[in-house]
Amino acid sequence: MHDLTALEHIIFRIFRFLRRLPVNLLGFGVNTRVFADYFKDFHKVEAVQGIFGEDTECVLHRLKVDLSWIGGYMYVDSSNGHLVISKSYLNNGNKIDIYLDLIHELYHVKQYLEGKDLFDPRYDYVERPTEIEAYLYTVQEARRLGLSDKRICQYLKTEWLSESDFKRLAKAVNVSC
Ligand SMILES: [Zn+2]
Repeated sequence: MHDLTALEHIIFRIFRFLRRLPVNLLGFGVNTRVFADYFKDFHKVEAVQGIFGEDTECVLHRLKVDLSWIGGYMYVDSSNGHLVISKSYLNNGNKIDIYLDLIHELYHVKQYLEGKDLFDPRYDYVERPTEIEAYLYTVQEARRLGLSDKRICQYLKTEWLSESDFKRLAKAVNVSC
């Protein structure tokens, strides 16, 4: 499947920073860094420009990343707008999943900057409008990169989502799982 080879090429180019692991990435505690320093090519990614438009470079230079020892994946801290990323996920996770998560979370950064409540308790996770919007955008990017619905389902399925919530989410973002 040469689509995937091309995709992997893009992903590995974006993640080339991982090959020269900065010392502080191996340290303890939370390291706060500037997003643009770690993810050097992200302002060139069309999907990211699609989120922030002409503000892309500015936003990525202002965005702080907290590299955390806390497990899990990544999320936007709604108290300060920082992107919190698990170091172990960044080091060991599947690179395609990490890339799609970054697109998803950058979409939340945009919503945060617009003043939206990212954790609106009136909604379940799988029906919260901010989540559906972010997932729809991520699924669109996954399809553009040539991922099959089967692979997108694999991406959407996480251990903390129940089977019924996973089905609701897949349906809400038009992926047949
Ligand atoms: Zn989300």
